[in-house]
Amino acid sequence: RRLLEIRGVSKEYVSVKGASVRALDDVNLDIGDGEIIAIIGPSGCGKSTLLRMVAGLDTDYEGTIEWTRAPRPGRDIGFVFQEPALLPWRTVARNVSLGIEVQKDRSDLPTDRVDQLLELVGLRDFAKSYPKELSGGMRQRVAIVRALAYDPRILLMDEPFGALDAITRDKLHDDILRIWAATRKTIVFVTHSVEEAAYLADRVVVMSPRPGRLRSVHQVPLDRN
Ligand code: ADP
Ligand code: ADP
Repeated sequence: RRLLEIRGVSKEYVSVKGASVRALDDVNLDIGDGEIIAIIGPSGCGKSTLLRMVAGLDTDYEGTIEWTRAPRPGRDIGFVFQEPALLPWRTVARNVSLGIEVQKDRSDLPTDRVDQLLELVGLRDFAKSYPKELSGGMRQRVAIVRALAYDPRILLMDEPFGALDAITRDKLHDDILRIWAATRKTIVFVTHSVEEAAYLADRVVVMSPRPGRLRSVHQVPLDRN
């Protein structure tokens, strides 16, 4: 079953000096329900831009991104950035419970739901801790379950492991697979690591820079396990 269709999406940025940069050129991609997709490609090829378009963080583009069912505003898309961006004055539980403050009408999650989310990444005992008491990997785990708090249909992650050391990264990989096994979420993540892509993803999307700054998408199907 298909979750969303990206058709002919192109994006041009105009710099302050008036020069235009073609960040995406005619991108076509189907994302299936429950798939894990890795997007790889060199710096500047448009990976973050594509993720932002899918997330609806930027709606100024050509082409269409169609969902099989319209997403609930602010709830159906979980987003994880390279830096966890937790609110330092809130406990871990309150960071998860209140989500990212894009949606002002959100109410607190029930405590047992927060505990259940933290349990998924082994951080239940840290519910009352503050972000500064946690390691970088633990903070990123909190950011990941915060993105899952409202049960989104898709989890988008922009280089989520990029700032972590190798051992921490390996642990996070296993967390992602555990989360997937428990939730069967559709997950799309950007990475610089081919190994990471091959280890986690069902499908790897390679974005290539082309002469004339054009970009295209190729798909390489993989068998997980
Ligand atoms: P990647 O994530 O693959 O490194 P990006 O999506 O960040 O690539 O960027 C794609 C291209 O768009 C790059 O040439 C980048 O410089 C340009 N770009 C990204 N964001 C902006 C912006 N806000 N304004 C102008 N140009 C931008
Ligand atoms: P609430 O839970 O009532 O929505 P927050 O969790 O956002 O409030 O903030 C808790 C307290 O921290 C509030 O008193 C708020 O004014 C204060 N606060 C807000 N922004 C910051 C900040 N950047 N640094 C420190 N404290 C802040």
